[in-house]
Amino acid sequence: MTLKRALGLDTRAERYAYAVDPVMGYTAAAKIPDRWVSTTCGYCSVGCGMFIGVKDGRAVSVRGNPDHPVNGGALCPKGLSEHDMLHVATRARYPLLRRNQRLERVSWDDAIATMVRRFRDVTQTYGPEAVGVLSTGQLVTEEFYTLGKLVQLGLGTRHYDGNTTLCMATAVSGYKRSFGSDGPPGAYEDLERADVVFLIGANIADNHPILWQRLEANPGKTLIVADPRVSKTAMLADLHLAVKPRSDLALVNGMIHILIEHDLIDHEYIAAHTTGFEALRESVRESTPERVSEITGLPPELIYKTAVLYGNARAGFIGWTMGVNHSTKGTETVNAINNLALLTGNIGRSGAAPFSITGQCNAMGTREAGFTSSLPGYRKFECAEDREALAAIWRVPADRIPTARGLAYPDIIEAVLARKIRALWVIATNPIVSFPNLGVLRQALESLEFFVVQDGFHPTPTSDLADLVLPAAIWGEKDGTYTNSERRVSKVNRAVEPPGEARSDFDIFLDLAAAFGCRDELFPGWTKPEHAFEEWKRVSAGRLCDYSGMSYEAIETLGGIQWPYPAGATDAADTRRLYADGRFQTDDGRARLIPTAWEPFPEPPTADFPFVLNTGRTVEHWHTRTKTGEVPILDRLAPTAWLEMNPRDARALRLKPSHRVDVVSQRGRVRNLELRITETVAAGQVFVPFHWADFNANQVTQSAFDPYSREPNYKQCAVRVERTTP
Ligand code: SF4
Repeated sequence: MTLKRALGLDTRAERYAYAVDPVMGYTAAAKIPDRWVSTTCGYCSVGCGMFIGVKDGRAVSVRGNPDHPVNGGALCPKGLSEHDMLHVATRARYPLLRRNQRLERVSWDDAIATMVRRFRDVTQTYGPEAVGVLSTGQLVTEEFYTLGKLVQLGLGTRHYDGNTTLCMATAVSGYKRSFGSDGPPGAYEDLERADVVFLIGANIADNHPILWQRLEANPGKTLIVADPRVSKTAMLADLHLAVKPRSDLALVNGMIHILIEHDLIDHEYIAAHTTGFEALRESVRESTPERVSEITGLPPELIYKTAVLYGNARAGFIGWTMGVNHSTKGTETVNAINNLALLTGNIGRSGAAPFSITGQCNAMGTREAGFTSSLPGYRKFECAEDREALAAIWRVPADRIPTARGLAYPDIIEAVLARKIRALWVIATNPIVSFPNLGVLRQALESLEFFVVQDGFHPTPTSDLADLVLPAAIWGEKDGTYTNSERRVSKVNRAVEPPGEARSDFDIFLDLAAAFGCRDELFPGWTKPEHAFEEWKRVSAGRLCDYSGMSYEAIETLGGIQWPYPAGATDAADTRRLYADGRFQTDDGRARLIPTAWEPFPEPPTADFPFVLNTGRTVEHWHTRTKTGEVPILDRLAPTAWLEMNPRDARALRLKPSHRVDVVSQRGRVRNLELRITETVAAGQVFVPFHWADFNANQVTQSAFDPYSREPNYKQCAVRVERTTP
């Protein structure tokens, strides 16, 4: 503090001055920009339209786009402070190479040459599939498309997956099994048009706040929320079903049982558009309200009431997020949800949809652009026709295209541990905080021969372990498109320059392609993301995710365009919902009704570990806090992790609100959590948010994965709670 300030002579009048901005009105003078740049929020997949205010080349403010069809000008706390994320001290600025145990600054030329040399060493010794790649949902679609081609045709490895497997892979697998393709069928306006909205394991008031506002715009709805916690969303529901952890699948099957028994199903729709009804009916015969009551802890009357409410809905909407996805039974639960919608004809109509609410801003883009669980444009690895069509567009021999997907995220980690993968390239993700069972992951990463982290932030707990750090531009610093949860493709625009020598991921990929010697073949003449977009349009043409009628200009003008939008399309409303014609992406055009079976979660409580740990998110932070942890207002709002415990359990353990606690499982311990004694969790359960590296919930979670999607079972494991010892 200066002497003038200490004496009260410096009131910092300039810093706290207000002025009138023609757009924002009366506001802090420091936030008034020279120009506004239109873009899309880079946090969650709601995909809010916004403007970045730029002054003297620096982002100084943001505001919601009042004309945007998604958010109508509103933004949540993360969006409102997004410009601050660009300036945090932990941005990655320069390429760094590990020498003598230290990361030292090197030139881009050195960085690229070293990566190519080390990757070549590995592939020459162990074969191309000794290289693995873990990507993200944070890049623009043009970058995902470029990366997919580079990895699988350039580097020649199939072992490429993304952190979307930690979040939405279950929805993808569920859609593919039920409908023959990935792709959320509904639209946000369904939240406003449904008369019954059923949210399962989805706390949208915290995690997708603008969708909550869309829901509030529907005063006539009945909102049912199934969640073991009394989340913010559950508090606002007409009916909260406080199910026991991971009993959602039993609940949905119980509802199907009641709907069939009471003939509240749409026989015409089932006959015309589905297969498998008899097997499904047989599979739920034992799911009586009494049996389901035992599993879920809900009274039979409540299960019955829920089923009848949904069964009688004019338009029923079912939304879900991680409460469903983060489970070894996740894919089957998605199939059960789809069964419920199909049996009642609640799909492809206004207000009626089963609908996965995606996590990251462009998790959808990576799913479309493919190369992880499918070929680009939702093509199938195993389909020769799909491979040939793609090869023809790319002018490469069809046998260059893999005939089966490579390893999924957890299996890549297993392969590293087994020394089958020797070099790993991690892009815009932070597995040291986000992957379950931290001890095993750390052991795997430490065994690598070469480990590259490409990220907009450094240091992160993951980049700290890298041999090479490539600094990348982030939201606000690059161009491209994101796809949101309702399949709306929106434009992302560069407003400012990246810090230091950071470069867009797109440019990094092209430089690597040049160094690997495949740029001219795979990316001829490409210099900007729009070149990737134009090729991607041709690759997507005729597919469910058809972009061929889009242009950057039209996307900007319309506030985003939902796919499919084929060449010649003029009205995006025509394809607002998938499957409006009742034709699905299966061989016979019919949706599959798939029998599913509830099972208890893999690690039940024991005498030593008597609580079920639930993990989740909070509105102020984003994933592992690389983006939000240094944003002052967000950090002040939620500076530390906590543990929620029911008062009855706290009394039994003689714990008081002022105490700090450790949560302990067979695998590890999270220390020194703030204790919140609250009835929002039931007795026998505890909750910890998963964002904090210092209080990493994944020190205690387990290595258990959904067999179809390979998504981790983050939501339930057995723990005990102890008072922290100093
Ligand atoms: S709801 Fe999601 S997209 Fe909208 S402002 Fe918040 S974080 Fe951004």
